[in-house]
Amino acid sequence: MKKLFVILIICTIIAPAWAQKLPRVIILATGGTIAGAGASADRAGYEAGKIPIEDLIGTIPSIKKVADITGEQIASVGSQDMTVDIWKKLAIRANQIFKNNEAEGIVVTHGTDTQEETGYFLDLVLTSDKPVVLTGSMRPATAISADGPKNLYDAITIAANPKSKGRGVLVSFNEGIFDARDVMKLSTTKTNAFGSPNTGPVGQAYDGRVEYYATSTREVQPVKPIQITADTKLPRVDIVYMYADAPSDQIDMLVGKKVDGIVIAGVGNGNFNKAYTEAVKRAVAAGVIVCRASRTPSGRVVLHDEINDDQLGTIVSDDLTPQKARILLMLGLTRSKDKKQLQDLFFKY
Ligand code: GLU
Repeated sequence: MKKLFVILIICTIIAPAWAQKLPRVIILATGGTIAGAGASADRAGYEAGKIPIEDLIGTIPSIKKVADITGEQIASVGSQDMTVDIWKKLAIRANQIFKNNEAEGIVVTHGTDTQEETGYFLDLVLTSDKPVVLTGSMRPATAISADGPKNLYDAITIAANPKSKGRGVLVSFNEGIFDARDVMKLSTTKTNAFGSPNTGPVGQAYDGRVEYYATSTREVQPVKPIQITADTKLPRVDIVYMYADAPSDQIDMLVGKKVDGIVIAGVGNGNFNKAYTEAVKRAVAAGVIVCRASRTPSGRVVLHDEINDDQLGTIVSDDLTPQKARILLMLGLTRSKDKKQLQDLFFKY
C-alpha cells in the first residue's frame, strides 16, 4: 500500500513534466538585418549581423512556451557576403544536429539578399526530413516596428510543429511559409519581401498557429539529398545576364577562365541573341556546361522551344531562377558531367 502511494506521488510529479516537454529547436544564426543595429530607431543606415543570437531570442520571451530553444552563431555576415564555405558549415551542422537527435527542428536566421540561395542549397544537401526554416527581416532590430522578432517567432513555431516535417527546407516571412526551392526576394525594402511567383506560399503562420495548404512541387528529404562533406570542392559556375544588344565578351572571358558551368539569365523563355549563341557554341565546344535560365521572374524555360538545345548543346533550368540553377549545377557537377543526367536533375529537384 505504502509502495503504491509512493509510485502515485512520483507519477503526479513526473507526468506533468513529461506532458510539458517542449520540442527542441536550435537556431543557427548567420547575421543579416534581423541581427542588424542602427544608430537610432528612425535612421535607415545600419550594420547587418551585429546582434548576437541570444539577444534576438530575448526579444520574444513568450517563445519559451513554444519550444526549448538554443542558439548557435555560425556566421555574422550581411548575406551579400554569404559564401559556399558558410553554406557547407551550415549544412554539416544541420545534418549533425538531426543525426545526433539534438533537436526536432532548426531555424536559420539569415540576411534576406541571398536567403533563397542558402535555402535551396540546404534543401539539396540536408539528409533529414525534420523541419529547417529560414527567416530574416527587412528592418534592423533597432528600427521602429522591426519585423525581425515576429518573423523569428513564426519561424520557431513552424520548426517546432510536426506538420512541418517532410516538406523540404522552408522560408518563413511576413506570416507566409514558402518552399525554399520556389521562393525569391521580390522587394528591395518592403516587409512583405518574399514570394513564390510560380507556386505561391505553401502555408501560413499566424499567432502561433501553423497551417499548410500546399506541398512542395518536387521530391523532398530524405529522397533528394546530394551528399557533401567539408572537403567537397564545388565546381565554378557563373551567371551571365542577357539584355538587348549584349556583347558576348563575358561568356568568352569565363571560358578563358576554364569555368565548369555557365548559367545564362536569358530573356523570356531563356533566349539570347546571335552573339551569345556563337559564344555558347564556343563554350560548349570547350566542355563548359551551359544552362539556359531566365531573367523573367516567373514561368519556366522550355527545352527545345525557340532554341534547339540538342543542337546547341545546352540544358535548361526548368523553373529555377538563374541563382538557383547555378546552385543545382554546381552540386550536380560533383556527381556527373553528363548533360542528360544533369538535365534530369533540373526536372527532378
Ligand atoms: N544586405 C543585408 C543581408 O542580406 C541586409 C538585407 C536584409 O537582411 O534584409 O544580410
